[in-house]
Amino acid sequence: MLSLRPKLLPLLAVLALAACAPAPAAPPEPPSPTGTASATPFPPTWATAQPSATPSPTALPTLAATLPPPPAFSTRLHAGVQPVAYISDHCEYLAQRWDPRGALPGSVVAPIMFHSILPGNTAPTDPSAINEVMFEQLVRQAQRLGYETITVPQLLDFIESNAKIPPRSMILILDDRRPGTAEDHFLPVLEENGWMATLAWIAHPDSAQRSGRLPGEKLWDWIVRLHDTGYFDVQSHGLRHIYLNSSIPIDEVREEIADSIPPLVEHFGYAPVAYIWPGGNYTRAGLEVAREAGFELGFTVYSRGPIQFNWIPQGEEERSYGEPLLLLPRFWDTAAVFNLEQTAQIGDAAQQFARENHAAEAAWYRQHCGGELPPLEDIFKE
Ligand SMILES: [Zn+2]
Repeated sequence: MLSLRPKLLPLLAVLALAACAPAPAAPPEPPSPTGTASATPFPPTWATAQPSATPSPTALPTLAATLPPPPAFSTRLHAGVQPVAYISDHCEYLAQRWDPRGALPGSVVAPIMFHSILPGNTAPTDPSAINEVMFEQLVRQAQRLGYETITVPQLLDFIESNAKIPPRSMILILDDRRPGTAEDHFLPVLEENGWMATLAWIAHPDSAQRSGRLPGEKLWDWIVRLHDTGYFDVQSHGLRHIYLNSSIPIDEVREEIADSIPPLVEHFGYAPVAYIWPGGNYTRAGLEVAREAGFELGFTVYSRGPIQFNWIPQGEEERSYGEPLLLLPRFWDTAAVFNLEQTAQIGDAAQQFARENHAAEAAWYRQHCGGELPPLEDIFKE
């Protein structure tokens, strides 16, 4: 990389000069169909910097009219938590936001993390555990508020292109290896409601597996049997459930993240697209490896708020990595009754905001993107 420097610096200097030079000093260039000077030694990607050296009268009004887009929805989140936008092309974002085939503006996703579900009303000693009574309250709350579940692939489509999801969506993620919890507590609820759950599964293909539940059944057979019900989506929770930190050698990081994929493909027939960071621990190297391995989403254990299209609530800690999709928040099951209510309210407020802001967004779109957004009545059909 260093060897590039001597070449790169003069190029940059030339570009800077060209951009700063007053118009009369620049030699007039013959018009070309592409709008770039054919004699320029610069590679095509640099050529877009050229026209500024020869300003034309028509370019001026466009520049003058470039106004910042209307503000995005904001709401009260925990101190230090802010929504992060991840789509850089605002025209593309607005077109997808207002696509009548897509999710309604104000659609919200509550991702909820689960671990143990203790019998009856047993008081949990582990801060991540709940009991059956709490689980039932959570389910009733979700039903009362009209939530439906989505899977990781559905969440990815929604995040990427505002694909249609129920306006109040939740993604139920059961961590680690808990086929008993999946079968005894989740499956009946999923069947009753037509819901789905996501298993954050530790992918190591153990040579000495513990037993399953049916005669002769091993652990992997058990989870495959549950997967075959069609009510579970399986994603990666690492190969060995290693809590990443910066002192773990890169080869080990690679093995932990990338090598978790083949066993899941082998047993379930598809590659995971989400990595659920074991212990919620991630590192810079881990993020790079996850990207390289093909993971498109990642979940932390930070409870930050609901996910919306182009709107990921993150704390300062996650924001500093600049990878919002690999560091998604999750609510804790222990507080989910409250979080579902809060998410519904945020969704309602976001929808109200969208209705009120539609005219401003349509005006900006008309001026900067050269088209018309669909009218409000095509979006909210009542
Ligand atoms: Zn775990």
